[in-house]
Amino acid sequence: MLNIVLFGPPGAGKGTQSEKILKKYHLTHISTGDLFRLHKQENTELGQLAQKYMDEGNLVPDEVVIRMVEAKINSSQEAKGFIFDGFPRTVGQAAALDEMLAKKNIPIKAMIALDVEEEELKKRILNRAKTSGRVDDQDEEKINNRIRVYREETLPVADYYRQQGKFHDIHGIGTIDGIFDKICEVIDQL
Ligand code: AMP
Repeated sequence: MLNIVLFGPPGAGKGTQSEKILKKYHLTHISTGDLFRLHKQENTELGQLAQKYMDEGNLVPDEVVIRMVEAKINSSQEAKGFIFDGFPRTVGQAAALDEMLAKKNIPIKAMIALDVEEEELKKRILNRAKTSGRVDDQDEEKINNRIRVYREETLPVADYYRQQGKFHDIHGIGTIDGIFDKICEVIDQL
């Protein structure tokens, strides 16, 4: 089973590249941000709980995220592999994911990290704000907070996978297809 963690700061292009990867390799997409936005739209209890964290650009508590991902994995029996997008975002989530997948004997094969400079991230998110309708894309203060949260809470997750020998770094600047080609090179060598 091809299980991949697509990693990177907000605005790095994880969503865009995920779409291309899952089409080419027939994977099931698990984007925790998308799942939370769906819950928000449907006004579920989980959506209401997540909203206050999301709107400020803070992380939803680990146990809530982990429970939601576990349910999604369990309901995807037909999956040939998973692409995790925006998850895990803390070392606690990464350890919980390993534990979940170990029970099923389907470990993570690789983390692919998209590396993009901060100024470029801000530009991309502000541009996306014009069409995304996302509250957390709209102002610079929220964007700065998301980047700070990424640096402080999420970046250590890269080391977690580095220690397992699963870390692959890709420079996320260039054309969408050019970056996708570099991702495919990594995947094809796994
Ligand atoms: P994203 O679409 O990945 O940028 O996520 C949007 C927001 O959803 C984040 O700023 C968090 O508030 C929340 N979120 C998404 N994924 C996670 C996660 N793995 N852990 C905690 N919060 C998350």
